[in-house]
Formats: sequence, C-alpha cells, structure tokens
Amino acid sequence: MKKSLICCLFTIAAFSVSLSAQEAKEYPQPEPMRPEMTEYWTPQPRIVTPGTQATGGAPSDAIVLFDGTDLSAWERVNGSPAGWTVHDGVVTVNKRTGDIRTKESFGSFQLHIEWCIPPMDASFTSQSRGNSGVYLQEKYEIQVMDSYKNETYVNGQAGSIYKQTPPLVNAMRAPGEWNVYDIIYTAPVFKEDGSYMYPPRVTVLHNGVLIQNNTEIQGTTEYIGLPKVSPHGDGKILLQSHGDPSPGISYRNIWIRRL
Ligand code: MG
Repeated sequence: MKKSLICCLFTIAAFSVSLSAQEAKEYPQPEPMRPEMTEYWTPQPRIVTPGTQATGGAPSDAIVLFDGTDLSAWERVNGSPAGWTVHDGVVTVNKRTGDIRTKESFGSFQLHIEWCIPPMDASFTSQSRGNSGVYLQEKYEIQVMDSYKNETYVNGQAGSIYKQTPPLVNAMRAPGEWNVYDIIYTAPVFKEDGSYMYPPRVTVLHNGVLIQNNTEIQGTTEYIGLPKVSPHGDGKILLQSHGDPSPGISYRNIWIRRL
C-alpha cells in the first residue's frame, strides 16, 4: 500500500515536471506587422502628361450617382444621410462625418468618377496630401491622392490598388485641376472554402491613360498587414474620408454601368 502510494506520488511529480517543461517552451514569435512592411518606394512609375479629355456626360444606361445636385444616392456607413458638402456642382469630403458609400450594391461594373485635389501647403507630403480613395465593393481601394510631384510608396500612390499594385505610369494632373478615373471592375467568384475561384480584377484609366490593365486584386487593401480574402457578394462603392489633416478633396460627375 505504502509502496503504491509512493509510486503514485512519483508519477504525479514526474507528470508535473513534464507539464511545466512543456509550459516553459518558448517559440520565436513573428514580428508584428507594421505599415512600412507592405510599402515600397522604387521604381517610381514614369510620368505621362495626359491629353485633353471630355468629362462628365453619363451614357444613357448609366446609374447617375452624383450629378452635382445632391447626395441622395449616398449614405454614411451607419446608414444616416451622407454628410459631405455639395456646392458649385461638386461634393467635397467632410472629414468630420467620415466615409460615404452608395445606397445600391454592385457586382461587376464600369465606374466613372472625377476628383480634384485642392492646392495646399508644401508641408503636406506623401500620404498626407489629399488622401481619399474609391473602394470597390467596399473592400478594394483604388487610391486617390495628390501624386503630382509628391513621392510616396509606389503601391500607395494615386491609381494604385492600395498596398498591392502601383499604377503603370503616373498620369496625375496638378492640384486644382480635375482628374478622371474610368474603372472597369470584374467581381470575384469564390470557392466553397472561401478562397477565390476567380479573384477580382480591375482596369483603370487615369485621365484617359491606362494605369491598371486587368490587374488581379489579391484581397482586401489593408493599411497594416497582408490582403485578406473572405467571401462576399455584391458591394457598395465607398469614398474614403482619410484622417490626414490636409484640405478635403472634391468629386463630381459620378456614374456607373452594371456589367
Ligand atoms: Mg486612401
């Protein structure tokens, strides 16, 4: 009896030693992701001066999202009325009220949108210079910012798929002038396991110049970390109210055609 009790205690002690040794194991931990880990600065896209271009004018089968009069097609992300400022046929970001998005959702589409960065002090640089963005299906950002004589990481400059693919060239107009994006977007198809069967793809013309050529989108456009993939259906167009302190940019002539 005494012998078996000692044996039992020895077994418990041995198990405890073994457990604590397991608990004490320390594996090397991966370094937490920081924003600069997914940014690269060279080579800078070649500069192309865009030609003159007709703007505005939605085609007959387009859904007009903004014609200069009101934001009835838009809302805040909490569903309340869009709080940006409509004036002189344009809408200007109101950074106090946050992002706005369309009330309607879309699958694949052709989107036309015009945007203007106001002239501003040279103290606003890199990502803090007129930053906004056009989110496709609320998940994939085509960057909007001032990339006229303003270097930043190339996969974050105007026309990039943010933190993924830089534009083929830099077709940016100067502050105070109007830029045009024509975006042709093909929505993704998902497998049952939630990965892409066919990833989303996008073609972008910036001021009539091709800057994304049927580019594969790798997943969500994260500020910190790698793109994420999770299944989704149709989604809204979202315009970003970025937290940088530079003056708000303006948009006009926004229309979309379902594909
Ligand atoms: Mg942005």
